[in-house]
Amino acid sequence: MIKITDLNINNKRVLIRSDLNVPIKNKTIKSYARIEASLPTIKYALSKNSQVILLSHLGRPIEGKYDENLSLKIISLYLKKILKNIEIIFIKDIPEKIEFKEKTLIILENVRFNIGEKNNSTELAKKYANLCDVFVMDAFGCIHRSHASTHSLAKQANKTCAGLLLIQELKYLKKALINPIRPMVSIVGGAKISTKFGILDKLLQISDYVIVGGGIANTFLAINNNIGKSLHESKFINKAKILKQKYNNLILPHDSKVVSEFHENADFITKKVFNISNNEEIIDFGNESAIKMAKIIKKAKTILWNGPVGVFEFKKFREGTEIIAKAIAKNKGLSIAGGGDTLAAIEMFKIKNKLSYISTGGGAFLKLIEGNTLPIIEELEKRSTFKKKE
Ligand code: AMP
Repeated sequence: MIKITDLNINNKRVLIRSDLNVPIKNKTIKSYARIEASLPTIKYALSKNSQVILLSHLGRPIEGKYDENLSLKIISLYLKKILKNIEIIFIKDIPEKIEFKEKTLIILENVRFNIGEKNNSTELAKKYANLCDVFVMDAFGCIHRSHASTHSLAKQANKTCAGLLLIQELKYLKKALINPIRPMVSIVGGAKISTKFGILDKLLQISDYVIVGGGIANTFLAINNNIGKSLHESKFINKAKILKQKYNNLILPHDSKVVSEFHENADFITKKVFNISNNEEIIDFGNESAIKMAKIIKKAKTILWNGPVGVFEFKKFREGTEIIAKAIAKNKGLSIAGGGDTLAAIEMFKIKNKLSYISTGGGAFLKLIEGNTLPIIEELEKRSTFKKKE
């Protein structure tokens, strides 16, 4: 696909679709991670004396209805603080035309306020396309959604290319998914197996080992064990059984911390997974299992991680996830992690700088691993047949 660095964007109107969907509470931005990840592309475009027009969504407003709490104004104020010497203009309604002025940054209001955004409206995309010479798709977190400001705009714009963040995300995922350096170990945790069958199947195909934890492991354990009142999805036990029979590289815990009541300070005991009573529930890996898994991770040359292996939000029950996270952090091979809870765990255990790459995408990260063909990627690839460096 054409990258922003392949095109001559000097003195051009460059429209960038970023993912600036940051968490906001009480009118305060709670994490700047997504803004920071978007900045290299914005700064690169500005360094070429272009005029940058920035698009993003924020939260889930009702289309056609303005919601002050989900306005991008707060982000424009933050950008004003950090981008010195750049004129920053916030525009509420989509203008018909924008006069070119170099080194200016125009931020348009939340794209999800506009009718047609979610159903990929061509008409809406044309309004955006009219504002720019070049469209840069950089919102990796939205790559799995065909919306007007992503997919349709990529089709309608005169020139379309990929931004630096998108290129970086795809580069790391490719390294892990295509001819990975072996052994490759994947870790899949989280609550619901129903949301992760796609990536489990894919990762079982390409990894040497797939370590499974959380509610997902419980559903596998329920094939042969009484797991009491542990979180699991009984409707999917059969599907889990088929997957387990198909592959022999699936690693489940053999011991677990169990509680009788689900709360932060609950008393726990560690039990073998075949010994769980009706009134008990699995809340974390047992230490024996976590240490066994850490030894497997130690030998890996490629690691992919998505999802906590226990209820890591509770201090008493985060040890399993911590042992796994620290084993990943210690590993000198390629390590890639993605997903909202996974990022929270990485921040909690302060290992952010120890991993090779932390993806900014949750759903997008999973969909790409699953290997689905994504219309936006297809469009970007189609565009690469056009002339570069015009
Ligand atoms: P997901 O969004 O599917 O990645 O799931 C993450 C959530 O799974 C976290 O909130 C964890 O607390 C939860 N989780 C992990 N293990 C368990 C478990 N054994 N019992 C209940 N919840 C769990």
